[in-house]
Amino acid sequence: MTEVPTESDIASEAAITTETSTWKNSMKLAIRDSKTLMDALGLAPEQMAANGLAEQQFPVFVPLEFLSRMRQKDPTDPLLLQVLAQDTEMDIAQSYHQDPVGDSLVEVAPGLLHKYRGRVLMIVSGACAVHCRYCFRRHYPYNTAPKRFEDWLPSLDYIRNDSTIHEVILSGGDPLTVTDDRLAELVEHLDAIPHLARLRIHTRLPVVIPQRVDDALCRWLSATRLSKWVVLHINHANEIDGGVVDAIRRLQSCGAIVLNQAVLLRDINDSVKALSELCERLVNLGVLPYYLHQLDRVAGAQHFEVDESQGLHLVSELAKRLPGFAVPKYVVEISGEASKSPILPEHRLAFLE
Ligand SMILES: *Cc1c(COP(=O)(O)O)cnc(C)c1O
Ligand code: SF4
Repeated sequence: MTEVPTESDIASEAAITTETSTWKNSMKLAIRDSKTLMDALGLAPEQMAANGLAEQQFPVFVPLEFLSRMRQKDPTDPLLLQVLAQDTEMDIAQSYHQDPVGDSLVEVAPGLLHKYRGRVLMIVSGACAVHCRYCFRRHYPYNTAPKRFEDWLPSLDYIRNDSTIHEVILSGGDPLTVTDDRLAELVEHLDAIPHLARLRIHTRLPVVIPQRVDDALCRWLSATRLSKWVVLHINHANEIDGGVVDAIRRLQSCGAIVLNQAVLLRDINDSVKALSELCERLVNLGVLPYYLHQLDRVAGAQHFEVDESQGLHLVSELAKRLPGFAVPKYVVEISGEASKSPILPEHRLAFLE
């Protein structure tokens, strides 16, 4: 399960500069229970369908910066619905599993997943800056994720010994919950592996706490020779405020190409309006909408699922309204496949067979 860094983890960082302590402070001040969340939005507890069991299993975690983009007194707010614990999470449907995408089968070193050719995914942290209720990694055994630099050494050895690997994806949890000193050290080691060409970072932190993209982060990111790809995770246009725009500009100015992935979520972004506003907003900021994911069937998330037929309809409507580069690839992750699998309309499938 996703964990939150403890006070002592944060305090143990030897040299906290004023600059980097800002985002760490936001982590400390984050809301950690549904009641406080509802109070902050002026909602009564009765408006929340929850008896507390769901949040015992996967705690609520919402930084104030993310809260500030939610509408007051609106129980249907698309940002609130992503983070609010609900009783329906406890009704587990048959086809929903703890590890829906087969991650445990492809772990080649502690915290290193080698699932697809040419690229590996490193789980550098078990912590996140927000807890998304639909997260497919909500049951991942993060307590086994590496905690100290030495814990990454087996992964670095694996990467060094396989010259077919050209790209390392820093993921989690959220890799940017790790301090810049440690990330800088890790990236320096990756930089020294000659067959690596690309560094990719999968993160939601620049969206949730935009001040995470500070000078210290830009320093190590700008310094690497590797080509830099940052994949954000934004599901709704309301998540993008002025702070997020600044964070995106800063990432771009330190040489990163910024992409976005979204998850198709019932009652959150399952409309032509919501998706087209999101994609248009992104491309206007120079961010490419990369993937629209069909929900992974993780136990506890079934109430977020949108039918594939509806998803296909939405994507075809986007294609009629937006430039081609603004339309994300609609994909699903199937355990054992060589890549994410595109979801295609039936007439296209018939053509392929
Ligand atoms: C999604 C994923 C990737 C990256 O896939 P791309 O299609 O290149 O974005 C890599 N490794 C793992 C384990 C993944 O789940
Ligand atoms: S979706 Fe990303 S940010 Fe949200 S809980 Fe999962 S790993 Fe963390």
